[in-house]
Amino acid sequence: MLKNPGDPILSKVTPKNEMPLNWPNKTEKFKRWTAKDKKELKLILKSLPNVLTQIGELKIFRASQSKWPENGATTAAEENIITVYDKAESYGLKKVLVHELSHILWKNLDRSNKEKYFSDADWALNTKGEVINQRAVISEEDGRLSPEEDFANNVEHLITN
Ligand SMILES: [Zn+2]
Repeated sequence: MLKNPGDPILSKVTPKNEMPLNWPNKTEKFKRWTAKDKKELKLILKSLPNVLTQIGELKIFRASQSKWPENGATTAAEENIITVYDKAESYGLKKVLVHELSHILWKNLDRSNKEKYFSDADWALNTKGEVINQRAVISEEDGRLSPEEDFANNVEHLITN
């Protein structure tokens, strides 16, 4: 379970017109949330299961475009920071947020819960010691890259499809 289950719910939506401290992608242009998008964001956060949102202070920033233009958002899970890009609109803000919050949830899972996910989701070690996935059905192909990506994709699909 979460390391800090009693932490306060949200979510300081701090739309300061600046980049998060130590943000890795220095060329990204940060901007303010519009009032309309901020309202939508808050409604979405309220609609989500507590396990995704009761994670202590969450900071959600807004920038125009990712270093990788197809990217809807980037998360610095260690710092509970999510940066949402314009591109998120084409995927749907809720899908994008659930996906990114799932990466933070993954970070907060303890070892036994991660191991449970490995076995429930058919992750295994091959003879070279690499984690591989053998499921016939996968929610998104990039989930084969790592258990964490697979987990985030599956939570996203469960909640938003
Ligand atoms: Zn992801």
